[in-house]
Amino acid sequence: MILIVGGAGYIGSHINKTLAKSGYKTLVYDNLIYGHREAVKWGEFVLGDAGDIDQLRLVFSKYKIRAVMHFAAFAYVGESVTDPEKYYINNVSNAATLLKVMREYNVKNFIFSSTCATYGIPQTDILYEDHPQNPINPYGYTKLVIENMLKDYGNAYGLKYVALRYFNASGADPDCEIGERHDPETHLIPLVLDAAIGKNKNVKIFGTDYPTPDGTCIRDYIHVNDLADAHMLSLEHLLEGGESQIFNLGNGNGFSVREVIKSAEKVTGKKILAIEDKRRAGDPPKLVGSSDKIKKTLGWSPKYANIDDIIKTAWEWHKKLNASK
Ligand code: UDP
Repeated sequence: MILIVGGAGYIGSHINKTLAKSGYKTLVYDNLIYGHREAVKWGEFVLGDAGDIDQLRLVFSKYKIRAVMHFAAFAYVGESVTDPEKYYINNVSNAATLLKVMREYNVKNFIFSSTCATYGIPQTDILYEDHPQNPINPYGYTKLVIENMLKDYGNAYGLKYVALRYFNASGADPDCEIGERHDPETHLIPLVLDAAIGKNKNVKIFGTDYPTPDGTCIRDYIHVNDLADAHMLSLEHLLEGGESQIFNLGNGNGFSVREVIKSAEKVTGKKILAIEDKRRAGDPPKLVGSSDKIKKTLGWSPKYANIDDIIKTAWEWHKKLNASK
């Protein structure tokens, strides 16, 4: 059994589907604060919090857990600045509880959702895994603390882990069974699609004076199913006795905010009203990662390299989600 903590959320639910379709038995453990029960369409489900040691012990004693994947983090960067305690307790303290119970039950394999936010302000055009890690917000710090915990627990207790530093997860299951659904929504692509579908009048562009070709921020958008494939390869790597690893996960292509909006206009066939606004605090001008290491080590390769294809899957899901409301 593979335990997916936070498997009712956006990324976790896609990984649950990928694993289940590949024949893994999965158990989703989620407190449903941000997750959706109806996103758990595969495997078993247990309601619980990653910080609830008694509930975790029940799960670990009932099921033979071979590996744990951990997605149950809070991820609103702005909120992490105004309410850091919420982030340190949920992201760090609860991860420590989960790792403690894993140790009690001698479960050694852990896959962790880390983030390019651990790098802070890029000092190089393309980020490689050995780039210095100096996060600029508490969210990034919480993820970096856990990366350090994993290294220390590996040395001391023999924990084996893969930490995946995501760039911008995006898109949706092409079968439209699951997709991105945040409340509140802060991410660019769903907000652009909200403007396309008429739910919002416009989308705001946060900053047009960045040192980039069109003045707007550049990000590396990676399709959520490509992320899911990488998790499955990481799991197989650990189950086969592979060494602990840290990998970037992006598709290596950067797209500006304006390019995302243009692509969404093409895909949706709708005119999207974009309003130029001031910069959002804490946004580096460009975040693009090299994923050469995971390609070479695990043979991963992204199936979605093109932003139009990513947005197409997000758009199909977006239409379905809004039609059912
Ligand atoms: N962004 C924007 N308008 C929005 C939301 C986001 O211009 O309504 C920009 C944001 O400043 C960043 C990029 O879009 O440069 C991607 O932001 P998102 O929140 O999707 O992901 P992040 O890069 O923060 O993880």
